[in-house]
Amino acid sequence: MAETTEKIEFKAEISQLLDILVHSLYTNREIFVRELVSNASDALDKMRFEVTRNPDLADDTEPEIKLSVDEEAKTITISDTGIGMTRDEVVSNLGTIAHSGSAEFVKLAAEKSESLDSLIGRFGVGFYSVYMVADKVKVTTKSYQDGAKALIWESDGKTGYEITETEVDFAHGTSIEIFVNEENTSRFLSESALKDIIKRHSNFVSFPIVVGDERVNTVTALWREPKFQIKQEQYEEFYKFLTYDSDAPIDTLHFSVDAPVQFNSLLFIPKKDLDIFGMDRENWGLDLYVRRVLIERQNKNLLPQYLSFVKGVVDTEDLPLNISRETLQDNLLIGKISTTLTKQVLGQLEKMAKDDTEKYAEFWAAHSKIFKAGYTDFLNKDLWSKLLRFESSVESEETKGLVSFEEYIERAKDDQKEIYYAYVASREAAKLNPHLEIFRHKGIEVLYLYEPIDEFVMETLGEFNEFKLVAAEHANTETLDKFETIEKEDEPEPLNEEQTHDMEELVKKMKEILGDKVVEVKMSNRLSDSPCRLVNPDGGMTSSMEKIMRAMNKDNSIPPKTMEINGKHPLLRSLLNVFEKNPDDDFIALSTRQLHESALLLEGYLDDPHALVGRIQDLLTRAGGWYSELENKN
Ligand code: ADP
Ligand code: MG
Repeated sequence: MAETTEKIEFKAEISQLLDILVHSLYTNREIFVRELVSNASDALDKMRFEVTRNPDLADDTEPEIKLSVDEEAKTITISDTGIGMTRDEVVSNLGTIAHSGSAEFVKLAAEKSESLDSLIGRFGVGFYSVYMVADKVKVTTKSYQDGAKALIWESDGKTGYEITETEVDFAHGTSIEIFVNEENTSRFLSESALKDIIKRHSNFVSFPIVVGDERVNTVTALWREPKFQIKQEQYEEFYKFLTYDSDAPIDTLHFSVDAPVQFNSLLFIPKKDLDIFGMDRENWGLDLYVRRVLIERQNKNLLPQYLSFVKGVVDTEDLPLNISRETLQDNLLIGKISTTLTKQVLGQLEKMAKDDTEKYAEFWAAHSKIFKAGYTDFLNKDLWSKLLRFESSVESEETKGLVSFEEYIERAKDDQKEIYYAYVASREAAKLNPHLEIFRHKGIEVLYLYEPIDEFVMETLGEFNEFKLVAAEHANTETLDKFETIEKEDEPEPLNEEQTHDMEELVKKMKEILGDKVVEVKMSNRLSDSPCRLVNPDGGMTSSMEKIMRAMNKDNSIPPKTMEINGKHPLLRSLLNVFEKNPDDDFIALSTRQLHESALLLEGYLDDPHALVGRIQDLLTRAGGWYSELENKN
């Protein structure tokens, strides 16, 4: 046999990973048991799946995971009667990191000092955790496939591994012999230690785990147990088993349904977004069981993606055991389950929002980013939009700074028929936003949108309970004028007839100066604190939405807009003075360009601030000169 030994070196990222795992001080070393048991359980699931699909496989092995300790040899052996591995599988599964995020995991793990416990399981690098306690590992495996040869994979976890053909006395499965290192023998080399660890981390594995000759895990499919018999701790334990999350879930949802489809479901809402690094977006879906047999992990048809933060299992009696994963996709029953599950989850969230504002705020902080993608779910539009929350110009302690459409409507003015919103960079930026001035003065609430998706949400919904959703910058000035002004400004002297005429001339002049850069320059009554604002001539898209579209089309040009001028602003009054003395004074051109570009800057359109900054410096230089002249005169 020895002549077939082949030596292979590890890929660079595996060596790195092993180095991190071995030297990680903060990681709970016992989790290597959890990882190996979970792999064994996966292998058994896969075997069962193959057998149900292919009755010719005539398999009479008992599905089982066994652990034993040899104190003298200082080894722990964990074996399963699962699917086993072929030579190719051994090389690709144990010699490379398959999971896409794993290279990033290595990088992040190296930077982070906190525990890697939960990351290891989630990132599909579990097998290597065994090297936290081992000098050497010997994997003996035989694939269930016809004619597959048994193999030994052996490695000290440093530079590479060896593969040798062998003979075994089992039909298929894997046996992993762990040579426990000096440092860890006292801790792990006993059956009782292993039993404790399994109870802590692997209690919900659905195959018997036997240590020595005692079956350790006793719990059966929790989701099938009657609710009243289950303790809160059991739910939590199961959740942690399922997700590797170290926190308890923020909410648990356990129910069974008989019509139109029979199914049991146990769902959890995690406290935090489990995709910490935002690069594991495919890692979602519910585990689908048929009569307690796992059919598919992370099935993505049971819930819409906007609820992908929900974790859990679904178990139905109504599907055949031998259903193939391909036909699951467009299976009618799955569609019906999904419809029911979606309603249940939304209903549960509605209840949470009503009963516990604080908890709901926590949910919103963790999952709203994903949840907002639900604007495409037209079937559940009403309930879904009730669950949306926004920051707004009204800062309320009671609502933790989050406002729902319903609350907005409660606070709305008499006769108000619209809900106003504005896309802003921050609360502070909102205070300087010229479009929002009139809302401040009239005391009309404005919802603040911070993320591009918010605008898609508003555009798609269009209205809520007969209130139209309107972007503040598009709000009709006449409509707004009807509301009483509550915050009065010191109004400047109104212009006399001649001045009014001159102002109109000045406005024409400004359009001449700006040329094609603007569609039109016109006076506006809507502004008071700001000298001007830019609006889209057709009133179609908001400028933020326009920016998103332009970014998608890689369009960098600055679109011409209508510039509205505030004739009451001191800046415009001074310009008027200058204009009346000399309509061609270059100060007018300078100021007009400056006003236009500053407004572009506020709207987020100005990519190149060179001209603007040059002009500011020019203006400052002149202002400095005028100022010192004045000083000298006094
Ligand atoms: P993950 O389980 O997330 O895929 P691991 O590092 O834990 O990552 O395991 C890598 C791969 O090795 C598994 O996906 C599986 O294909 C294979 N493997 C590990 N242990 C076993 C086993 N006991 N039986 C069969 N295959 C196994
Ligand atoms: Mg694993």
